[in-house]
Amino acid sequence: MELKLKDLYDGFRDPKAIKSFASLIEKETEKLDTPINIMEVCGGHTHTIMKYGLPQLLPEKINFIHGPGCPVCIMPKERIDHAYILAMQEDVILVTLGDMIKVPGSKGSLQNARAKGADVRFVYSPLDTVKIALDNPDKKILFFAIGFETTTPMTAALIDTAIKRGIKNLFFHINHVTVPEVMKELIDSRDIHVNSYDNRIDAFIGPAHVSVIAGSKIYEVFPERYNKPVVVSGFEPVDVMESVYMLVRQFVQNRCELEIQYKRSVTKEGNIAAQKMIDRYFEKRELFKWRGIGNIPKSALKLKEEFSYLDAEKIYEDILPKDEIEDHKLCICGDILRGIAKPNECSVFGTVCKPSSPLGSCMVSSEGACAAYYKYGGLI
Ligand code: SF4
Ligand code: SF4
Repeated sequence: MELKLKDLYDGFRDPKAIKSFASLIEKETEKLDTPINIMEVCGGHTHTIMKYGLPQLLPEKINFIHGPGCPVCIMPKERIDHAYILAMQEDVILVTLGDMIKVPGSKGSLQNARAKGADVRFVYSPLDTVKIALDNPDKKILFFAIGFETTTPMTAALIDTAIKRGIKNLFFHINHVTVPEVMKELIDSRDIHVNSYDNRIDAFIGPAHVSVIAGSKIYEVFPERYNKPVVVSGFEPVDVMESVYMLVRQFVQNRCELEIQYKRSVTKEGNIAAQKMIDRYFEKRELFKWRGIGNIPKSALKLKEEFSYLDAEKIYEDILPKDEIEDHKLCICGDILRGIAKPNECSVFGTVCKPSSPLGSCMVSSEGACAAYYKYGGLI
């Protein structure tokens, strides 16, 4: 019998298995005195949670808090402006990944830049940029790189290819960020931010793709130093339900550990070849501003000094603005990304702000929490 793609994931979406985990979780949760706030760091998990209505299947004592796990949502407006300004240069083709197109900066989105004549192209894989560079030798090709640990190796592979093939018209604006630092920041900053929503993070569901590359070892610090359990979870609803069950069991049994639910893809060490490729070209920035969260030390990457001749931020230093830009007054993306508010608490959610006319980035990206609430919360 021929194996179809859906055969690979069907079992992980099986309603019976989801319901079985729901009743196991309910039984275990009865043993808990206090509710648990579980932050899923990754936007992919937020979508699974909303798409399959998992909050409705879980007891009230289990509360999902949505985290900053979308690379587009956390990009501050000033860096979106960088993309816009670079795209508007006469001899430039700006290349980036799909979700960037509609994110509004202070000057407009890349879609607006395109409407004004800019040559902006979107690729599924960074390596597709090689062909664009070879086909357009008279142009400067600027790759606007975004993403967590997941996509960084692909940017590194693109740099590697450009150098090895002697491609001279390809440059990079690097916006790669790293997950553990923002998780630490969210815990450390918790007491400062007074808010309407429950302020605690009791446990984390760890990202899937990020962990495939970086390995589960990047979360060891959370149970050890922060007393927060972490379960690295797969993307399917059965994965997420099993991860919640594993976390609840830890609380019931008074354990605080790092566990991997997504064993079919994640190891402790991760993908060593990909990590080496990242280390060859990148080093940590001292500080990087995350939208709505602020400056976080060592939470992003930049090109190493020896590759600065490829760095569009340095080459175009004189025309790229440095000032910080405020978000729209009504937009509470910042609180959502910090996990202290939910999208439906925003006064313009689903009215002024919707995917066709997004006010903030959480409504733009396919991984954004506001987009997930809009799409799966009965507002389509
Ligand atoms: S890239 Fe994958 S792991 Fe990272 S936030 Fe997006 S969905 Fe989650
Ligand atoms: S609904 Fe729109 S305006 Fe409100 S927080 Fe989300 S993105 Fe921002």
